[in-house]
Parts: sequence; C-alpha cells; structure tokens
Amino acid sequence: MTQPSRIAVIGGGWAGLACAVELADQGLPATVFEAAKHLGGRARRLDWQGMAIDNGQHILIGAYRETLRLLTRLGQDDLLERRPFVFDQPPAFRLALPRLPAPLHVALGLLAARGLSWRDKWAAARFIEALKHQGYRLPGDCSLSELLDRHGQTEALRRHLWEPICLAALNTPMAQASAQIFCNVLRDSLGAGRADSDLLLPRADLGRLMPDAAAAFIRARGGRIELGQRIDAVTHDALGLRLSGRDAVFDHVVCASHPAQLPGMLAHLPELAPVARLVAGFGYQPILTLWLSFELDLELAVPMLGLDRGPGQWLFDRGDIGPGLASVVISAEGPHLSMGKQALLDAVLGQLRRAVPALPDLRDALLIAEKRATFAAVPNMQRPDNATALPGLYLAGDYTRSDYPATLEGAVRSGIACARLIREQIETTR
Ligand SMILES: Cc1cc2nc3c(=O)[nH]c(=O)nc-3n(C[C@H](O)[C@H](O)[C@H](O)COP(=O)(O)OP(=O)(O)OC[C@H]3O[C@@H](n4cnc5c(N)ncnc54)[C@H](O)[C@@H]3O)c2cc1C
Repeated sequence: MTQPSRIAVIGGGWAGLACAVELADQGLPATVFEAAKHLGGRARRLDWQGMAIDNGQHILIGAYRETLRLLTRLGQDDLLERRPFVFDQPPAFRLALPRLPAPLHVALGLLAARGLSWRDKWAAARFIEALKHQGYRLPGDCSLSELLDRHGQTEALRRHLWEPICLAALNTPMAQASAQIFCNVLRDSLGAGRADSDLLLPRADLGRLMPDAAAAFIRARGGRIELGQRIDAVTHDALGLRLSGRDAVFDHVVCASHPAQLPGMLAHLPELAPVARLVAGFGYQPILTLWLSFELDLELAVPMLGLDRGPGQWLFDRGDIGPGLASVVISAEGPHLSMGKQALLDAVLGQLRRAVPALPDLRDALLIAEKRATFAAVPNMQRPDNATALPGLYLAGDYTRSDYPATLEGAVRSGIACARLIREQIETTR
C-alpha cells in the first residue's frame, strides 16, 4: 500500500488556499501553515468598530476564470455582483460599455463616452486597433508612458482612461509600468469577449468571500490549517523537505508567501539561490485605503466612482457591509505618501463633495496603508516558475511567472498550477 503524500503549503493567502483547495479536491490533503492569526494575506477581512471590513477594496473582472471557478467550487460565486464595465468620473468623464457583442461594446462605448473629444476617441480607437492587430504583443517592452506617446494618446485619454486603468490593474505609475503587462490586461478585458470586461464587486467581506469557505473545504477533506505558524526556512535532507521548527518531513512543499519573504525562506537551499536573488530584486508599490463611516448611506447610483483632481482615485459605496460605509482607494506611490493623515482625509473629502451631491456628515475614518501591496509591474520583469530546481518544492503567489500583474487571478492560477504539478509528480512516481 502506498503512503499518503505529505504536503505542506506555507502561506494562507489566495495562492496558498487555492492550492490547498485544489489538492483537497483531488483527494490530496495538505497542511497550510499561516504566520498570521487569520487567512487571506493581502486580501483579508479586518474588524473595525465591530464591522467586518477589508484591508483594501478588491475588484475582480469577468476574465478572472480560475478565481471564478474556485469561488463556484466553494459555493461563493453569488457573493459577487456582476456589472458591465462602467467608468464614471463625475462630472468630467463617463465610459459605459453597452451589453453588445465584442468588439462592438468597446466601439460604441467609446463613441458615446462623455468627456472625450472626437480627436480623443479616434486616437483611442486607433490605439486599441493597433494593439489588437499585433495580438497585444509588443516587439519590445517599454514603459506605458512611452507606448502612449508612440500612439499619440492625448492628455484627456491618459488622465481619464489609461492612467486609472494602469493604476487599478498594475498598481504602478505609468512612467514605470510595463507596457506589455498593460497590453496583456487589455487583451483579456477590453480586447476579449464582452463578459470578460464585466466588473465583479464583492458583496461580502473578503474573508467571507473565499478564505473562510476554503478553510472549511480543506478541513472537510482531511487537510489542516495551522494559524500563527511562521515558517522561517525550508531545508532538505535525505528523508525529504523540512520546515524550520518542525519535526515532520514533507514530500512536497509549496512556498506561497509574499515575495518579500521568499528569499529568507530559501536561504538554506543553494539550488534556489538564483530564484532568491531574482525575487530579492523586485520593487514594491503601496495601496492606501481610506475607510469612511458616514452618518447616512451614500446611495450612489453606481457602486464605484472614479475621483479626479486629488489623491483619491476611486470611491466605493460599501453600504452592503455596514450602514454609511464607503472606501476610497489610492493606488501606487505619489505625493499622497508624504501627506499627513488629516491632510489626506481633508483632500479626499474635498473630492467627495465635488463628486457626491449632499455628502452625509462623516462619523469616523480609518486609513490602511499596505506598503508592499503589489510588486512593481515594470518592463521586462523576470518572474520565477512554479516548479523549482529542487524536486518537491514549488512556488505559488501573484509574483510567479504569468503575464498578469499582481492580482487575485495571478495568485489563484499559481496555486492551482502548483497543485497540478504535485498531482502529476505523485502520479508518475506511483
Ligand atoms: C490594498 C490592496 C488592494 C488590492 N486590490 C486588488 C484588486 O482590486 N484586484 C486584484 O485582483 N488584486 C488586488 N490586489 C492584489 C491581491 O490582493 C494580491 O495579488 C493577492 O492577494 C496575493 O495573494 P498571494 O497569496 O500571492 O500573497 P499574499 O496575500 O501575500 O499571501 C501570502 C501569505 O503568506 C503568509 N506568510 C508570509 N510569510 C510566511 C511565513 N514565513 N510562514 C507562514 N506564512 C507566511 C502571509 O501572512 C500571507 O497570508 C490588492 C492588494 C492590496 C494589498
């Protein structure tokens, strides 16, 4: 009789949990070691004044196939509200994609966009057409600003369309952002089927959306979740792979930590030195989320609004998780990082007064700064594979090789890829 495989997953973020769910589903229970007291990593629930809020607002899009498959498998997909792509930045700009087959939805959406001149619309249409013509593959990577210059993109297009998309998707300023990664995002959203560009807004806190259900799924199939268990290093000997501070030996270990923690974890594995060096060279970008508790619900006509002329970039109405609750997102680095909390709050409230008529009185505010929210998605990035030079050791996380920026979809895909590699390995050695 063959012994069951001993599988460890280090990190209970979306990558590690997706991996453990996929393994559990294949009858391969794993133990998840999570350093924090809670699951979810960079997409997690927090408690604020008795309300379940998130560390940061997350948006999914229709193209997130593996994330949607995972949520469906966990029975959680009804916690997402699907809406056609609407980018509303009152009063200056509005782009709404009608429910028409692709690519008509983009063409007619652009034609009817408010806040763009005919010259802007023509330039945007030509740019999208040129990218499509070349299969969204650039001959060489460069910054997004350079690509936009080359394609004659106007100031209005940059300000109202390309910069907000770049910040929301790549969390990297346009002057530093990889034009190729940006094109990959366009390919799978505006450049794909109509439903792929739909926005999917969580209608529950992030913990309820996935990690709680994943933990229950994993445990019900014989897996284990160990919270508050930091693993400082992975080593190996003749018996297999070992985790620092643990006696157990594992056949398969998936490192699913934040990339900044990876080099330390691999420090005793000479085979992994090139990967550790590669990841140690990554840069990171922050995301600030300002949670605002108002006396009354905002009752916006749309659940998310673009903000202009100030530090806040997006306003989300979160009346769904608490009365009068809203969040404002500020992606990537910028002058806002050197503003004091009160000055930032005052500037954001000024923006909200311009965008929301009859803004209710503010009760309270909470600023959450995720300093290393995502890796900086810069040109020509090299990213490590899920399989490593050490048999049995795998890497999962949004930073592993993929043509996506740091996203939930990138994290989930990487976790599932590791689970499949483990299964293949087990099947070939049976
Ligand atoms: C504020 C914010 C907003 C975002 N908005 C969006 C969005 O709108 N759409 C989108 O798609 N993506 C968004 N992202 C990105 C998305 O959250 C991440 O890409 C994704 O959560 C990364 O998941 P991960 O599992 O790869 O890594 P992580 O979430 O970082 O998970 C790693 C886990 O490993 C644990 N860990 C680390 N070291 C150890 C150790 N030594 N031992 C044990 N455990 C360890 C950590 O505690 C953590 O739980 C956002 C991120 C932030 C921060």
